[in-house]
Amino acid sequence: MKIADLGEFALIDKIKENSIYSPKRVVQGIGDDAAVEKLEGEKYLLSAVDTMVEGVHFLRRKITPWQLGYKAVAINFSDLAAMGGVPTGILVSLAVPGSTEVEYVEEIYRGIKFLCKEYQANLLGGDTVSVKEGLVISVTVLGQVAPAELTLRSGAEVGDLVLVTGSLGASKAGLELIKRGYSKNEKYSALLSQHLEPAPRLKEGRFLAKTGRITSMNDISDGLVSEVQEIAEASQVGVELWAEQIPVLDSVKSLAEQMEESFLDWALFGGEDFQLVFTCSKSAVKELKQAFKEKFQHPLYTIGRATSQSAGLVLQRGDTKEQLVAGGYDHFNSPADK
Ligand code: ADP
Ligand code: MG
Repeated sequence: MKIADLGEFALIDKIKENSIYSPKRVVQGIGDDAAVEKLEGEKYLLSAVDTMVEGVHFLRRKITPWQLGYKAVAINFSDLAAMGGVPTGILVSLAVPGSTEVEYVEEIYRGIKFLCKEYQANLLGGDTVSVKEGLVISVTVLGQVAPAELTLRSGAEVGDLVLVTGSLGASKAGLELIKRGYSKNEKYSALLSQHLEPAPRLKEGRFLAKTGRITSMNDISDGLVSEVQEIAEASQVGVELWAEQIPVLDSVKSLAEQMEESFLDWALFGGEDFQLVFTCSKSAVKELKQAFKEKFQHPLYTIGRATSQSAGLVLQRGDTKEQLVAGGYDHFNSPADK
């Protein structure tokens, strides 16, 4: 059945089923002019929104509706992870052509609800509109964080170390596979799902924020260099990244080689890995790494340090240093030029 035949209200009724995972907070969910939730104590309210547009952020034939719903939520949860917070609820704005199959939209919501359930965030409401063509899904996430645990981009200090929660470049590897027509059940399924079903690092973000030792944090949506640049700007520092220390999976390296691409470029500029990049004082790093490894069974990686702002963004590779710009390298500042 098509959405146009089912009608908006019947569709919303379907969406409403199984939408609340943390009922104690909810006064009113889907079904009134606005959702109503109770606030907890002295916590700060977090909010963020991200939109995915067909043809721009996804291709309908390259992502399943389940993955689309999942990913639209995951990218928002990742934003809250980067603040040290937890999501409590979401709102979904959906623009779909009336000719869309009802089952397709239901699958989108299965993906949405999977992640909401995993993190006990309620599906609180949304909006449904019809468009001539192309699908747009916009998710607004609400969440909370204790004031002492709020982690902004702006707290990095000169001398701090820069760390990431996991390997980079796998999502870009997945994207390159998709562009070349690979699909799910082939050899590279782990890389494909890195791109199509990224995990928001909420537990990691909470853990780091709770230690009180993190000075700044960002999630890697646009690429490591771009996110580090944001931290550098907000904190008024420079950053030196150490190329050899950036974690990249062997499978990503070998795929890049096979495609005659640079795995380092994938790791630096690829984006959508949704790992967290953060800074921490040198004196706190050892203990932090140990505690993180015990809890998550995998290490944190030190990939650079904060320098004075005038040094800008620098990539150190072997004995050479080059200036980095958001979209790539700027080769004017290697030591040979000095
Ligand atoms: P209103 O006319 O007050 O905007 P709507 O008829 O648009 O109300 O929506 C009715 C209820 O359904 C509201 O609680 C709204 O939040 C919810 N809702 C509408 N569309 C969606 C959607 N795509 N996903 C989740 N909830 C939705
Ligand atoms: Mg409405």
